[in-house]
Amino acid sequence: MTTTTTHEGESLYAAARSQFLKAAEVMNLDPAVRQILEHPKNEICVNFPVRMDNGEIRVFRGYRIQHSNILGPYKGGIRYAPEVNLDEVKALAAWMTFKTALAGLPYGGAKGGITCKPSEMSLDEQMRLTRRFTHALGSNIGPDSDIPAPDIGTNSRHMVWMFDTFANSHGGSDRNRAKALVTGKSLACGGSEGREKATGQGVCYIIERWATNAGLKPSSLSVAVQGFGNVGYHAALIASEMGMKVVAVHDHTGCVANAAGLDVQALKKHQDATRTLNGFSGGETIAPESFWDQACDVLVPAAIENQLTSARARRIKAKVVVEGANGPTTREADVVLAERGITVIPDILANSGGVIVSFFEWLQNRNCEHWELETVDARLLDLITKAYDKTLDRAKRYKTDVRTGAYVVALERIAQAYAERGIFP
Ligand code: GLU
Repeated sequence: MTTTTTHEGESLYAAARSQFLKAAEVMNLDPAVRQILEHPKNEICVNFPVRMDNGEIRVFRGYRIQHSNILGPYKGGIRYAPEVNLDEVKALAAWMTFKTALAGLPYGGAKGGITCKPSEMSLDEQMRLTRRFTHALGSNIGPDSDIPAPDIGTNSRHMVWMFDTFANSHGGSDRNRAKALVTGKSLACGGSEGREKATGQGVCYIIERWATNAGLKPSSLSVAVQGFGNVGYHAALIASEMGMKVVAVHDHTGCVANAAGLDVQALKKHQDATRTLNGFSGGETIAPESFWDQACDVLVPAAIENQLTSARARRIKAKVVVEGANGPTTREADVVLAERGITVIPDILANSGGVIVSFFEWLQNRNCEHWELETVDARLLDLITKAYDKTLDRAKRYKTDVRTGAYVVALERIAQAYAERGIFP
């Protein structure tokens, strides 16, 4: 079995489990609940053939890991990347359980993925891959049971293909209801205003709240962002619109810095045109590794897992790390950051804007409603701020770090549900 190991040699699922076990310890969680949450409820693995453009047939492996549904239908994204493996998807699924519980949503947690290289596949190939995967998952997913969404390597296009495939194979009166099968759809096909930018928007609401609590003006802050995909781009753009200075951006194509602030929209145009961040005329191209040495107040890792290692954690200059990605900080790095007095606002809180607005999209689909962007943003701000405040309260009450405080809030809700429902039969 392939596993995703951290730079410091640990499986990603083991790392995710250790975060939740720490909170379980601190709050003295019911051992039965702890035991249940240590394992995903269902691990679905499918192998299925897809016809490539050259006529060749290739078999792909896809996963859907359903971690918990004690609070509602399973919920979580679908990732397309070469590194996708069972261990990684299990970790990502568990994080969804805690993310939705912390945000107060009526959802459980799941994650899916296909091991593939979308950058080397045509749109037609991606469509056939997505439709065949949806078909292979069959009734394991559904608008009342398990609701997928975009993640790395997927976007609204893939979600619309999933919903269309599902609608066509679950006919009759279910056809219209099928819209609520997936979130993150395009506006024309039942998506929500503000969903695309939602994760980045949530990251920025969190930065604002942190700054206000610290007695700092958000507009006085400088921000460094790792990752320039959906989360990193929108976080950088919204931060700059809020008056913050985006002083460095780094992704797998390169790294640019400008102490006076980068023009994020111009940088995006440059990247779209040249397929690299390097060479952008509005900043200085620097060696990717020097990203971690840049002077900044806020560091937003918004790329992939395990980027902030203990060695990098010793070098960073930021006062706060706001995790836009899932699992960007290794367990060892968490220890170093705590020693250095650098606050880490954890993924399950910091990047929850995406799934919060997914919930709004699902509600709109079910009620045949359309909410204006102002309504979506205001409700997102309300939910994410409540989750943030509760997290800080628990961190203080249990004299622990912010990550553990966030898990405590999530586990309180889950434990309460188990206490009242009991275990069947
Ligand atoms: N993939 C996103 C995440 O990791 C969004 C999940 C969703 O909207 O269901 O939170």
